[in-house]
Amino acid sequence: MLKAYKFRIYPTKLQKTHMEKVLDLCRWIYNQTLAYRKEAWEKEGRSVSKFETHNLLPKWKQDKPELKMVYAQTLQNVQERVDLAFKSFFRRVKAGEKPGYPRFRGKGWYDSFTYPQPQKGGRVVNGKLRLPLIGDIKIKLHRPIEGRIKRLTVCRTTIGKWFACFSVELEDNPKPPWKDGSLVGIDVGLESFATLSNGEKIANPRFFRDEEKELAKAQRRLSKAPKGTPERKKALKVVQIVHERIANKRYEFAHQISSQLVKKHGLIAFEDLNIKGMTHNHNLAKSIHDVAWNMLVTLTSYKAASAGSMVVLVDPRNTSKMCSRCGILVEKSLSDRVHKCSQCGLEMDRDWNAAINILRLGLQSVGIQSVEARPLKGTGAVTNTICTIYRNRRIKNVSCCTTHNNFCNRRRSVFRHNSQGPESKIRVRRN
Ligand SMILES: [Zn+2]
Repeated sequence: MLKAYKFRIYPTKLQKTHMEKVLDLCRWIYNQTLAYRKEAWEKEGRSVSKFETHNLLPKWKQDKPELKMVYAQTLQNVQERVDLAFKSFFRRVKAGEKPGYPRFRGKGWYDSFTYPQPQKGGRVVNGKLRLPLIGDIKIKLHRPIEGRIKRLTVCRTTIGKWFACFSVELEDNPKPPWKDGSLVGIDVGLESFATLSNGEKIANPRFFRDEEKELAKAQRRLSKAPKGTPERKKALKVVQIVHERIANKRYEFAHQISSQLVKKHGLIAFEDLNIKGMTHNHNLAKSIHDVAWNMLVTLTSYKAASAGSMVVLVDPRNTSKMCSRCGILVEKSLSDRVHKCSQCGLEMDRDWNAAINILRLGLQSVGIQSVEARPLKGTGAVTNTICTIYRNRRIKNVSCCTTHNNFCNRRRSVFRHNSQGPESKIRVRRN
């Protein structure tokens, strides 16, 4: 298993200048390599391997002696990045997606460099980060690094903070068996951050609103400042600072929520936000939310694997329209906050109704095909319905778990009804 550690580093002014220079030279190599490969393809119809580009480096170093300021393996890594960019370009072409040709990097658009073998260059010595050719840099090691360090990447944020990111290989701990725990479906929304199928709500954090205001203010100021003036530079900096602060807070928030979720629940069903089509959004509030939701799903998925719970993603179509009791579609606009079913008379919070639908779809996707929406009065009823179906049922070849496959190995488990409380549990017994 790979794990990443990120530490803030505090370079001196001299070191900062050196590192900025390294970034710029890496950018030069990146563009140069890209141009070479592009030309070979356009003129000769030939695709170039990364080893061929490695062989160009000595010649380039002769022509541009300042390249000696950069550690040799770091330069090779830049070419590897170009190689990766091409590989994913071809993959997209093959998959019939919108390809997007690898781009040249403009000034300021290259913000990290890598030491692929930190045993040789780029390691922590006497509490300082030793980078070859650059020197010892003050580093804040807020937690110990466990495992074998595979690579080190030094990166700069938009507002000029520097970080060291260690990629570490850990011994694979045996995955814990699927744990007892409640099953939950989660609907993400704008009014509250998320609604759970047991009726719980996770409120939007305050900072969403506060920071959104700050950002709007900063952006207004930026758009008013005339181009090329010092005011504009200053205003841009403020916008960047706010963006970075939002990103940090959002990350922390998603971490907290995802930890709570995997601790409490054995199965967590989300809407597949990719299907939902979360494109770039001009509405500020919406875009801040979108990123936070995506982050929540990603973090929950990766934590679930080691916590013994699982995450399933379901197709979000009709989840908010469908009645969770009788299954008919009830048309509603965004402003209708209550789900009112004309057929069965169910009346409940709109998001709660959606969350129950998501849970049902999630269970279907792990192998239960015939879970019907049954009369649901509060949570107990929901989970009871599901438990009845699970009872004593042998499930063969449980798969379709889109996020991680470890559950798929757990075939032939016996699902048993365990308790009847509002958070009914399901026990898994392995044969
Ligand atoms: Zn109904």
